[in-house]
Amino acid sequence: MNQKIAVVTGANRGIGHQIAKDLAGLGMRVVLTARDEAKAKAAAAKIIGDVIPHQLDVRDVNSVAALKHFVEREFGRCDVLVNNAAIYIDDDKSILNVDMDTVRQTVETNVYGPLLMCQAFVPMMLKHGYGRVVNVSSESGRMTTMSDGTPSYNLSKTALNALTLMFAKTARGERVLINCMCPGWVRSDMGGPGATRSLQEGADTAVWLATLPDDGPNGGFFRDRERMEW
Ligand code: NAP
Repeated sequence: MNQKIAVVTGANRGIGHQIAKDLAGLGMRVVLTARDEAKAKAAAAKIIGDVIPHQLDVRDVNSVAALKHFVEREFGRCDVLVNNAAIYIDDDKSILNVDMDTVRQTVETNVYGPLLMCQAFVPMMLKHGYGRVVNVSSESGRMTTMSDGTPSYNLSKTALNALTLMFAKTARGERVLINCMCPGWVRSDMGGPGATRSLQEGADTAVWLATLPDDGPNGGFFRDRERMEW
């Protein structure tokens, strides 16, 4: 069987780095991306396996286009895409007074980033008749338990979930499975040292979704390998 090609965004640290490590451990060729090329190289060097570093800033259309071109030229396809990169820059403001620059920056990274990446890579997957997309979302984006804190982040993750559903409908019946997941509260720079989960625990459901069999779910929201309410 052909070695699977996986692209992981924001993989220089945190959950993204763990996902890249786990996918490489499963024998995939992993394109480990980071917005700073030197950080991508350093992070790739820490992983034993077939890992190729590449620059990617998900907010930059030219950077996304350059990565797409690289993957097409080098491998001719992309089997797995993990949209992990995100920012969490809300301060203590509420939806009543949140600064619009915070909203714009957050949505640009956490929503337009995965949107651009899916537009770049899902057509490649559809063309080759195989693909797994994992959008790393959060319970913060869940409509049924929506809180009024961290408004930009919550909004961005709800939008990411909606985007997941739209791409999943487009891919329906094509051996391309597109899902989103919540890693739980994880000990990364974003989650902080007091978080309840390790990086391995946070990465587990993403890795499971990245390796789903063809009869696996499409267009779902998961945590701990179980479906969550939207
Ligand atoms: P993290 O430690 O803050 O890492 C975030 C990663 O995203 C970094 O590699 C960062 O790169 C990258 N990034 C940010 N902006 C980017 C851009 N424009 N282009 C490319 N990469 C960019 O966060 P984490 O905890 O590992 O979070 C990973 C994912 O899990 C995120 O989607 C987050 O929302 C989600 N999540 C985390 C938790 C948690 O408790 N940690 C809970 C729920 C959901 P730089 O190093 O260059 O900044």
